[in-house]
Amino acid sequence: MDIVRIPVPVASAPTGSTNAYVIGAEEALLVDPPSDSSALDVALERRTISHIAVTHHHPDHTGGVRAYAERTGATVWARYGRSSSFEAATDCTPDRTFRSGTTIPTSAGAVRVIETPGHAPEHCGFIAGSTMLVGDLAIQHGSVAVATPDGDLRAYLCSLRRLGLLAPELLYPGHGPTIDAPVETCHRLYTHRRDRDQQILSAVAAGATTVEAITDAVYDTEALELRALAEGTVRSHLQKLAVEGQLSWDGAVATA
Ligand SMILES: [Zn+2]
Repeated sequence: MDIVRIPVPVASAPTGSTNAYVIGAEEALLVDPPSDSSALDVALERRTISHIAVTHHHPDHTGGVRAYAERTGATVWARYGRSSSFEAATDCTPDRTFRSGTTIPTSAGAVRVIETPGHAPEHCGFIAGSTMLVGDLAIQHGSVAVATPDGDLRAYLCSLRRLGLLAPELLYPGHGPTIDAPVETCHRLYTHRRDRDQQILSAVAAGATTVEAITDAVYDTEALELRALAEGTVRSHLQKLAVEGQLSWDGAVATA
């Protein structure tokens, strides 16, 4: 399929940039425009954008939606049931909504939507031929954030399993390079979460009861913005472990 990855600099993004994608040429789908950017303008020359969609509503994936919607007159899509959150994120009213199985026509072929919640509740992927645009479901190096209040770790692991079973040939992530070993990457990300579960269970067993104490025991981060993310991640692990009956968690105190 004719898919172009355009890394656009975004100061707040995990890798310092967010990948926008364009699928097709005469009738193209633009996914995740992070800002009104010259890098994107160059890539869009000689292409006709007919559709605009995002994988999820975080600002590093939505910042350019309104500008490109106004400039191209494209059909703007949002996930079914999430239009108001989409509008709050983009300042743009969606024309149509999609859900799992919806297809978006492009000159390179139909692109199929698949709901992949976890990193964010409205998170979706886009299946294009034997490849998939995965947003912040997967990344080549390191791991993606699954932190409260947006993140749901059980939903995330479920989406990751589904992705592993679909086994596309290539993954196009929201940040960083294209992933050419999708199944191995899913396995690595899954194992990373399992390891973190075990570290948190050990910390609680050793007497850490609060998010702050557990974060101190499990992470070695001092930076304040990373600290907030680490604490949100610990919270989403605690919620999962409590549902599984592996510890008790009342929202403030964890006990083994
Ligand atoms: Zn995100």
